[in-house]
Amino acid sequence: MTQDVAPPARVLIADDDPTMCGFCRLALEAAGYATVSAMDADAALTSLREQGPFGLLLADIQMPGLSGLELAQIAREVDPAIAVVIMTGHSSIDTLHASVRRGVADYLTKPFAIEELTAVVEQALHKRQLLQESLRLRALEQLLRSSEAINAILDRDQLAREIIARAREHVACQAGFLIIAGSTDAPTEVICEPDGAALLPGVREAVGESFRAGRPIAIAGKAPLGTLGDRDLRRGLAVPLRARGEAVGALLLCDERPDLASPGSQEILALLAHQAGNALRNAHLYGELDTAYRGLRELDRLKSEFIAIASHELRSPLAIVMGYAKMVRDRSEGDQHEYSQRVLDGAERIKGIVDDMMRLRDIDRKQSVLTVEPAALDDLVRQAVERLAPSAQQKQQTFDTDLPAPSLTIALDREKALLVIGNLVANAIKFTPVGGHIRIVVRRWPHFDLSVAIGRAASNPTVRRLSGTMPAEWAVVRVTDDGIGIPRDQQQRIFERFYQVASSLTREQGGVGLGLSIVCDLTALQGGVVWVESEEGRGSTFSFALPIAAV
Ligand code: ADP
Repeated sequence: MTQDVAPPARVLIADDDPTMCGFCRLALEAAGYATVSAMDADAALTSLREQGPFGLLLADIQMPGLSGLELAQIAREVDPAIAVVIMTGHSSIDTLHASVRRGVADYLTKPFAIEELTAVVEQALHKRQLLQESLRLRALEQLLRSSEAINAILDRDQLAREIIARAREHVACQAGFLIIAGSTDAPTEVICEPDGAALLPGVREAVGESFRAGRPIAIAGKAPLGTLGDRDLRRGLAVPLRARGEAVGALLLCDERPDLASPGSQEILALLAHQAGNALRNAHLYGELDTAYRGLRELDRLKSEFIAIASHELRSPLAIVMGYAKMVRDRSEGDQHEYSQRVLDGAERIKGIVDDMMRLRDIDRKQSVLTVEPAALDDLVRQAVERLAPSAQQKQQTFDTDLPAPSLTIALDREKALLVIGNLVANAIKFTPVGGHIRIVVRRWPHFDLSVAIGRAASNPTVRRLSGTMPAEWAVVRVTDDGIGIPRDQQQRIFERFYQVASSLTREQGGVGLGLSIVCDLTALQGGVVWVESEEGRGSTFSFALPIAAV
């Protein structure tokens, strides 16, 4: 079994005295550290930028060019977690204070022994490790806030800008670009931050590399990656964005610093990229859903408009046809009488459809007026059965009713409730073959029973419209048939306007698919719900419930 061995900590020694430099190098390498020496501050800065990262900077306080303390300050700007130990010929309180202000971990007064040097370096590196851990914790906290912010945005462009802003917060850089992967019907898009930043062609190759590697990749080409105003951006860090294993885009952060992101912040960036990839995918799906929803809304609007126009335009000519047909029928005999009666029967059917359309139009325009009064539900059921009995007899169907005694009287709109019951019973007759059986039950249900029943059924629009405080008791009417039944996947859709189950028997029965949407709307108007339980080939139970309020 192999085990990863941590690489030795790297120490940058900056001292213009070659003897001192050599002494420190030998002592530290003997203690297991890797070292790089610089003979002045400029050389130290170059090493910091080009050979970093270092764990510790061991700098003489006095050097040509920058002082050791100034060098310490710049080193901490390049790498906030670097530990700094200052070597000084004399240590005054002032030097000590200045050192602490510049983030110096410790200092050594020359001359010092090897043991003293290694002990101070070891301690400073230990402090650095603690500092790194606390920086990492702070970065994780920031990451948590970033992912919360990112996940709350569903608009794709706004999300893209937020992702760039959050990434730039983690890694301070001059410019950020989000390249959103294209598809066959959508081109690749690039979002830039700040204004004035632009990406140059040819960068795609470099970004593609990060996908192949599956992690953030530093890019430093001869050709610029992008521009910011009139400045060229030559260095960058490409971070691949994936969701469910698929490439969704890439983040490119640009800055002149070679050490744009330490290994720790690259790790944080990779985590942020993971969140960003998923958030981008969700925003894309949400966009598609929103477009589909808008399409459906438009379709709904067109249906409403069609209903309003058609019902209005059909009403007058229909009245004329019916008026004249009646006149001819009443004044004729024999064939003429019979033919005009047939015209009248047909016109009656059209009138039924136009009446349905008018009802829906009134509901859409919120012009449906409720006339609420106490009424016995069982009486309404009896009336509906009486009216529809001839159609059931024609198909040799049998009826049975189970009505409460004493009768259940509730506050409702009598005409609308009768329409609801009539529609459900008429459908039961229509969609049950010859010799079938229809049963109507009226019951008083506690709210719990209703919740269980509608929870089990395929949801429908009235259930979604239920909100607020629920009544404790409901009056429930259930119409059960042993007819053709409805496939489970269509049980929700039959409540939509003009929707009919695509079966030859449905088509044979005529109708235009408006009855159940009227049932839904009229029940919801009275604070009630409608639901269906059905099994294809075995039959259906349509139920509606109205709240029982004090009558
Ligand atoms: P219509 O009866 O005019 O077609 P509805 O809105 O009343 O319109 O019904 C919509 C569809 O729901 C019907 O076309 C039919 O496919 C289905 N349906 C309604 N009631 C039943 C039932 N009792 N049994 C089987 N299918 C039914």
